Amino acid sequence: MLIVKKFGGSSVANKERIFNVARRCVEEYKKGNQVVVVLSAMGDTTDELTAMAADINPNARKRELDMLLSTGEQVSVSLASMACESLGVPAISLNAFQVAMHTTSTYGNARFKKIDSQRIRHELESGKIVFVTGFQGVNKYDDVTTLGRGGSDTTAVALAAALHADACEIYTDVDGVYTADPRVVPNAKKLKEVSYDEMLEMASLGAKVLHNRSVELAKKYDVQLVVLSSLEEAPGTVVKEETKMEQMLVSGVTADKNTARIAIIGVKDEPGIAFKIFSMLAKKGINVDIILQSIGRDNKKDISFTVASTALKETLEVLEENKGRITAERIESDDQVAKVSVVGAGMQTNAGVASDMFEVLYNVGVNIRMISTSDIRITVLIDEADVDKAVKAVHAKFIEED
Ligand code: ASP
Ligand code: MG
Repeated sequence: MLIVKKFGGSSVANKERIFNVARRCVEEYKKGNQVVVVLSAMGDTTDELTAMAADINPNARKRELDMLLSTGEQVSVSLASMACESLGVPAISLNAFQVAMHTTSTYGNARFKKIDSQRIRHELESGKIVFVTGFQGVNKYDDVTTLGRGGSDTTAVALAAALHADACEIYTDVDGVYTADPRVVPNAKKLKEVSYDEMLEMASLGAKVLHNRSVELAKKYDVQLVVLSSLEEAPGTVVKEETKMEQMLVSGVTADKNTARIAIIGVKDEPGIAFKIFSMLAKKGINVDIILQSIGRDNKKDISFTVASTALKETLEVLEENKGRITAERIESDDQVAKVSVVGAGMQTNAGVASDMFEVLYNVGVNIRMISTSDIRITVLIDEADVDKAVKAVHAKFIEED
C-alpha cells in the first residue's frame, strides 16, 4: 500500500516529537508499505517567521514572505528524514521545487495546478521513506509560493491524489473532528465519520482541524481522509463522500472569530454597484462571505459583508481608494464580530433548524446581526464577546439533547 501521512506543527515541535513521527513512519514502512510524509513547520515557526518579517518590513512583498515562510517546512522534513535514518531506515526529504509541485502565482494563497509524481515514485521504489515539505509550491516564474496558513493538509491531499495513494492520514494534536471545540464545549463528541460537504462547511467556518482547500480537493479527487492524533492510538474521524453511521441532524457547531464586518453606507441604488465592489475585491483575492443589502431609500442603499479579520486592512484600503467609483458616502467596519454556525447534512430534509437556532440564541440573550444559510448550514454573525455562550447553548440544543 502507498500511504500519505501528514503531521502538523505541534506533532514535530521538538526532537522528541520528531522521533515520534519518525518511529510511526518506520513502523508503517516495516509493514511493507510505501510511505510519503508531509510535514508542517515545527511548532510556532511560521508565526515566528511572520513576526520576523513584520519587524524588518511591515509591507514586505508577498513573494519575499513566501520565500521566508517556506523555510520552516524545509527544517522539519530534513530533520525528520535524518531521524528515520538514525533509526536505520533510508529516507529523503524533498521540497516543492524538487518534487515539482506547480501552483498558481498568487503568493501567500497559491493553489495547486499540477504535481509531478515521478521523483517521489523513484525515491519510494528505491526503498526510502519520502518526506515532503507541506504548505508550498512553485509557480511559473520558478518562485516559491505558499498555500495559505494551514496549507500542509492540502499538500497531503494533493499528493495522495497525484500518487493514487491507498490512504491519506492527517495527524494532529486532536484525535479527530468534534461536534464543537472541546475547549469551549466539554461535552463535545468525536465524530466517527463526516461527509466532505459537512467537513468543508466546518473547515471554512472555523473548525481548525483541516484546511478547507484540502477538503475541497479530497472531494474532487475522492481521496478518503482520516484525521487522527499523532500522540495517541485512537480511531480518529473518517472524512468521506457518504456517511451512514451518524444520522445526526446537526453534526457540528463552529465559531470563527477571524471575522470582520464592513458596511458601505449610502451607495447609489442603481445597477452595477455590487458588481463594482465585489469584482474589485475579488481581483485582490479577498474572500467575501455573508453579504447583505438593505432596501433602497431616497435612491440610496447600504451594502454590508464580512471578510476575514486578517483581510480587513487591505479591504478597507481598496474601498477607501475607490469610494468615489462605488458612490459610497462612508465606510464602516467592526472587527469585534464572529460567525457561529451549525452544520449538518440532515438539515436538507428537516425544516425548523434555523428557527430553533434563533430561539436558542434569543433565550441566552444573543443578538443576531446577520444570517446566512446553505443546504447544510446556518450561520449567524454575532458579537465576538457572545461566542462561547452561543456555541454552548446551540450545542446543548442540537447535539446534547439529541
Ligand atoms: N506551517 C504552515 C502554517 O502554520 C502550514 C501548516 O502548518 O499547515 O500555516
Ligand atoms: Mg492545521
